[in-house]
Amino acid sequence: MTNNVKDVTREDFDNVMVPNYAPAAMIPVRGQGSRVWDQDNNEYIDFAAGIAVSCLGHCYPPLVETLQKQSQKLWHVSNLLTNEPALRLAGKLTDLTFADKIFFANSGAEANEAALKLARRYALDKFGEGKDQIIAFNKGFHGRTFFTVTVGGQASYSDGFGPKPGAIDHVDFNDLAAVEALMSDKTCAVMMEPLQGEGGIHASNQQFLIGVRALCDKYNALLIFDEVQTGVGRTGTFYAYQHTDIKPDILTSAKGLGAGFPIAAMLTTDRIAKSLSVGTHGSTYGGNPLACSIAEVVVDTIADDAFLAQIKVKSAIFKDALAQINDQYAIFSDIRGEGLLLGAELAEQHQGQAIAIMNQAAQAGLLILVAGANVLRFTPALNIPEHDIHAGMKKLSLAIEKWLSA
Ligand SMILES: *Cc1c(COP(=O)(O)O)cnc(C)c1O
Repeated sequence: MTNNVKDVTREDFDNVMVPNYAPAAMIPVRGQGSRVWDQDNNEYIDFAAGIAVSCLGHCYPPLVETLQKQSQKLWHVSNLLTNEPALRLAGKLTDLTFADKIFFANSGAEANEAALKLARRYALDKFGEGKDQIIAFNKGFHGRTFFTVTVGGQASYSDGFGPKPGAIDHVDFNDLAAVEALMSDKTCAVMMEPLQGEGGIHASNQQFLIGVRALCDKYNALLIFDEVQTGVGRTGTFYAYQHTDIKPDILTSAKGLGAGFPIAAMLTTDRIAKSLSVGTHGSTYGGNPLACSIAEVVVDTIADDAFLAQIKVKSAIFKDALAQINDQYAIFSDIRGEGLLLGAELAEQHQGQAIAIMNQAAQAGLLILVAGANVLRFTPALNIPEHDIHAGMKKLSLAIEKWLSA
């Protein structure tokens, strides 16, 4: 029996970890592409990719090679020094976008924290005291630091931690009249996800975006796009704003940027960046050479017309397969999303059951996500092979059949 004894088991989680998560019963130990194996060598198809993070699949060989090479050159120097990978990566991000200037961080929340602090400081520098209102959206998600979670649109996530950061107002997503009614010269920023991820896979409409952009211009407020989930090819363009006719003033990027290595970036223009002058903000790890060397390869791989085009093809395959499952089981009321950020909303009679179906899928050997209680969320690697999509959909179909008959 000794060959089957495990060092650690899922039970250890309950013994040694803070109970803020409820992880699945199995413990993954290795991955390759869009497949993952657990401690008992059970195989899973991965439609989750670590919540839209592992965008090139597990152990993508060029990333492994880059990590190995950089790990023998230079790991960390802090921001008292700059480093070559960070400068090259910043150059690539500015070449690809509206932005002229980059700030690196380690997580989505940190990039958003930087964006919000910058917006407040810019308003103070340019317009003086009192211009500090931040308008954000119900069901939005921006991270778990106290400032970002308060800007997020679910009070239940920010309640219970004492006095909240102030001057933050929420309205319904896509409700231009509500934004207009709240906005004034006191508004310093409007923050949104161009396609709400955690909140249920809700797209913004073009008229709304154009209207918000015009209101921001009218009241000298900055438009902040949180592209932590939608960025780095996830919706089929490098950043989601590139589907639209407008540009934000500040954009944040994380999740897919390091394809599994923690890194985040805040992008902005020259004019606005000036307000984060020496000493106003910082991060010990941000722009670490290990992280930046990996993100360079991620950006080079994904910011490629052929690569982006195949995301759209795979998106259609995903949507077709979900529609077929729905033809058979009539379980969804809607299938939506862009690129490989997709959601399937459960029909009326199955409301609240998304997590139960996700767990059933895991038992069938398929990793998926939820976005709220009623939406199954799919965020696979952007290079997922077509045969893995089909194999995963078979498992999803079986899981749904089993769940419906239980
Ligand atoms: C995941 C996410 C965040 C938070 O990122 P962390 O790396 O967990 O801090 C912020 N905004 C959006 C839109 C996200 O999807």
